[in-house]
Amino acid sequence: MSEIREDEYIDPTDGLIHCRKCGGPRQVVITHPFNRSTFKPRCVCPCQQEKEQRRKEAEERRQRMDRIRRRKAQGLQDRYLYGYTFANDNGQNPVMAKAHAYVDHWKEAFKRNIGLLLFGDVGTGKSFLAGCIANALLDLDVPVLMTNFPSVLARLAGTFGEARTEFLDSLGNYDLLIIDDLGVERNTEYALEQMFSIIDSRYRSGKPLIVTTNLKLDELKNPPDLAHARIYDRILERCAPILFAGKNFREDNAASNKAAARQIITSSTASYQRAVTEKGEL
Ligand SMILES: [Zn+2]
Repeated sequence: MSEIREDEYIDPTDGLIHCRKCGGPRQVVITHPFNRSTFKPRCVCPCQQEKEQRRKEAEERRQRMDRIRRRKAQGLQDRYLYGYTFANDNGQNPVMAKAHAYVDHWKEAFKRNIGLLLFGDVGTGKSFLAGCIANALLDLDVPVLMTNFPSVLARLAGTFGEARTEFLDSLGNYDLLIIDDLGVERNTEYALEQMFSIIDSRYRSGKPLIVTTNLKLDELKNPPDLAHARIYDRILERCAPILFAGKNFREDNAASNKAAARQIITSSTASYQRAVTEKGEL
């Protein structure tokens, strides 16, 4: 006979231990198949089952949050990237709709290995858009790395042999790789060789790549030499080009910052407030 705990009672109708909270049985009757003797092992009542289920779900949520936090720390190496989110979008750049669409259709983009090539003038919001995609996917538990060639090249500089292969392979572990600001790095023969290794290993991983660049599409399509050509060809083959045209959001911001600064030094709090509210956030 099992010990009866404080939150239990024996129900006279079946003689089994029941839960005081939900009334459900905490014992089952099992009959021996040969000698027909019975025994009554313990079981969990419905409210215990539900509690266990909730505990498991909370634990899974916690693990998922931990994983997302870890992945963000790993995937967004520059602090400012944390601020590149849809929530921080001021809604002024119509091309942002494409970032939302890419995230919404991520599963298909991943399956079909469709990347993006974001090109256009400096300050038009390419990195912001790429960062928004990175953050949105990281929040969905997708492994993303957003980096740039100077960082990767610096990392590769002191790495040889197996460690080098390991590092290049590790880039393939991310479901999405974002290379920001292609074209700003020093184009030495060595650098170009490394860049090709990276793009090529990504290409062979069959996983999507997003590249942002200030280069013109024309420059990408007509590279100065073979070393550039084989890098750009790989990118153009897998990345859908998106042009960032017109408005320079950084200049816009600089202008509104200047306006805000002017307000601070010349006039009342009220007009300063107004200037700050009008200031764009990109
Ligand atoms: Zn119960």
